[in-house]
Amino acid sequence: MAESIFPPFPPELNDEEFAHLVSETIDWCQAHGLSVRPPPALLEAARNPTNALSSHAPVTLFPSPFPRKNFQDALKIQKVYNELYAKIVQEESWLVNIIEDLSKHDTFISNLYSIHTRISSTGGPSQPLSLGLFRSDYMLHISPSSPPAIHQVEFNTIASSFGGLSSLTSTLHTHLYTTGHYTFSPTSPISISSLPPNPATADLARGLAFAHNAYGPATSSFPKETAILFLVQPNERNIFDQRALEYALTDTHTIVVHRATPADLMAAYANTQRIQATSDPSELKRLYELPRLELEKPTNALIYKPPYARRAYEISTVYFRSMYDPSDYESSDAADLWELRYLIERSNAIKCPSILTHLAGSKKVQQALCAPGELERFLSQRDAEKVRSTFAMIYPLDDSELGRKAQELALNPETAQHYVLKPQREGGGNNVYRGKIPGFLQSIGKDKWPGYILMELIEPPSISNVVLRNGNVEKGGVVNELGVYGVTLWSREKIQENYQAGYLLRTKGVESEEGGVAAGYGCVDSVCLI
Ligand code: ADP
Ligand code: MG
Ligand code: MG
Repeated sequence: MAESIFPPFPPELNDEEFAHLVSETIDWCQAHGLSVRPPPALLEAARNPTNALSSHAPVTLFPSPFPRKNFQDALKIQKVYNELYAKIVQEESWLVNIIEDLSKHDTFISNLYSIHTRISSTGGPSQPLSLGLFRSDYMLHISPSSPPAIHQVEFNTIASSFGGLSSLTSTLHTHLYTTGHYTFSPTSPISISSLPPNPATADLARGLAFAHNAYGPATSSFPKETAILFLVQPNERNIFDQRALEYALTDTHTIVVHRATPADLMAAYANTQRIQATSDPSELKRLYELPRLELEKPTNALIYKPPYARRAYEISTVYFRSMYDPSDYESSDAADLWELRYLIERSNAIKCPSILTHLAGSKKVQQALCAPGELERFLSQRDAEKVRSTFAMIYPLDDSELGRKAQELALNPETAQHYVLKPQREGGGNNVYRGKIPGFLQSIGKDKWPGYILMELIEPPSISNVVLRNGNVEKGGVVNELGVYGVTLWSREKIQENYQAGYLLRTKGVESEEGGVAAGYGCVDSVCLI
């Protein structure tokens, strides 16, 4: 019954039309960078020493039907969400209370938070501006008694990815419409007015450009040129998504962008320490030709000389697509990696995001905002009500009355069927679902429970679509997750920029619990508004 709001989907094509659609899609993706690096299994047989090979990204062959009203609701509320999270960071004390509590049960959160306290105790951050490239994720909730509504899955404040690939997927589907692939079938609901534009790439890049320009000219005596630094994970398969933002910055905004992994920065920092310990002029000359990372005194300007460049740059903005997961800090140099994160936070560069902004994206904060009256601390009554209407029920797992009720629900295999258990992590693959919750909770011990939240499962309607993954076609039932991007640049007192920045539609097989595209569970899609 829930499915009845959707038209029959996808449009029927005969075998030849379908084969043509597949080959057109593969070529369009490769021609436009709607691509990923191939998975290791595909690369085993191939020689690929210079990373020259790429594969089309996993995409749907058709845009998925999505109710127009719910899509517009999600876009419209994004500015309020941006304001909410900027204010949570600006006002600090509410957030700090939650994070201090969480730190007792979660070492990773505690390590992040200690960077903030270290900086606060030495006069606070030198950079007053913070940049947020956010993404609020929703699923469609269908109930027999009320019209379909969007319910929030989570709010991302760090490494909100897929803006680049999602813009391209909208363009791909519009191209396939224009070239007639969706109109062979007379029953197709896809029309040009059902395919909204998706400016995520341009809008997110514009956000980074705002930060870069707000930073202003170089403050250090040398170098004089500023640049944005993308801090990335090694062997990133989703690199073309990041490149889309990078190329928009260089090609549209003429801003220099450098990419570096934490290991690259550590090597550069080690060299700076060698420079500081040397007085031999010829040795110094040699060392100055090597990569370098330093904080210039007294401005705290972050200076980076990449290994491939002859000169150094003053970094205006650090964009984190790394250092948000414990695995990013797992190495023999873990302590040094935490020092690196501290050094960046202490620098004068604008962070996207700052440590506090990163922590504001914790699932625990999302749960705390569900309690009556909490949203009103930051928003007008009217806006608070609009935001609240997108919430699904989330419980703490602590010793409060609500927490004890949640423990009962989570430990009972029958009631646990309706819930997902989430730790304070990002990037997919961390949650525990349904029947696995009771055993998992028992295995970790009660003292760890308050580090998790228990969330009601949203059960979105299943529709049919076709997924193209590694050249193979998968037909069947899928569910969608809509993400809306938001850009905010704020100082301690004022929100300077705030806009909605396009969307992401991610689609996964009905049988899969997680929908991460990078993790290999889902694919990128676009909406066909109905
Ligand atoms: P992460 O930060 O790791 O992406 P999420 O909260 O987004 O964590 O959870 C990962 C995935 O799990 C989501 O993309 C979605 O597919 C599924 N999921 C999470 N919460 C819910 C929920 N309340 N109802 C249904 N599915 C959910
Ligand atoms: Mg997330
Ligand atoms: Mg998510």
